Amino acid sequence: MTANSLRAARRESILTFFAIFLALFSLHSTAPRSSGRNYSNVVIDAGHGGFDRGGVPGQRVPEKAMALDVAQRLANRLRRAGYRVIMTRNSDVFVTLGDRTRIANRYRDAVFICVHFNSATRAGANGIETYYYGNNSASLAASIHRHLVGGTSGENRGIRRRSYYVLRNTSIPAVLVECGFLTNPAETRLILESSYRQKLADRIADGVMGKPTPRNRPVVDGVTHVSPPIRELAGYNDFVRVEPERRSTRRSSSKKKSSTRKKSSTSATKKKKKTTDSDE
Ligand SMILES: [Zn+2]
Repeated sequence: MTANSLRAARRESILTFFAIFLALFSLHSTAPRSSGRNYSNVVIDAGHGGFDRGGVPGQRVPEKAMALDVAQRLANRLRRAGYRVIMTRNSDVFVTLGDRTRIANRYRDAVFICVHFNSATRAGANGIETYYYGNNSASLAASIHRHLVGGTSGENRGIRRRSYYVLRNTSIPAVLVECGFLTNPAETRLILESSYRQKLADRIADGVMGKPTPRNRPVVDGVTHVSPPIRELAGYNDFVRVEPERRSTRRSSSKKKSSTRKKSSTSATKKKKKTTDSDE
């Protein structure tokens, strides 16, 4: 080999190395954005916490603990994938709904994911539900729901548009997942297995990352409602568990808003407005 051809070969190998390096680098830096997801921050909200166990009174497995566990697994998975993750709570503490949305609204280029588990008076109720409110959240809800339903054994209870406080008061795309019923014995046994909780977290992460939808199970086509919402617990709502002393503040602020809007409203319409407000 002449000195010239040796130099040429060396130059070529250096160029090849750089080409591979560049390809790998661009692959890595665009990983979270590869499928049209144009955000780099994820705010994760583990439902309930502290005095608020979540679920129904007397429920054996506290929702707050399962929600935090899945939220932390989700956070780890997303961080490994290159996202910046912010947790509204990372331990067994109570955070108000107002604080949860305030944390979420601090971020641009972000999405908000609320992790919950369901409960019902009917022990047979089971499966996975995904909620969103704003139109800017619909595709994210669909992506997460498809992965959760397609990648676990949970029954498909559908994607629902609902005016929950944490969804309505966030400016970034916001989705709330109900990962299964802790009042269903079979589903609870599954949820108590760490491998299943990891699976839930991994599938939510796939949805956040916008990975292609799995085809191993039939899933809903687009944003649709496939089963009626559970309204078995009259007056009880999973997501409006506000701190007792704060309840009056929230009520009065919403009352103020409605009175400025229409000053001549009668007490009867005010009463009606109040009932709607409590159903958030
Ligand atoms: Zn909940």
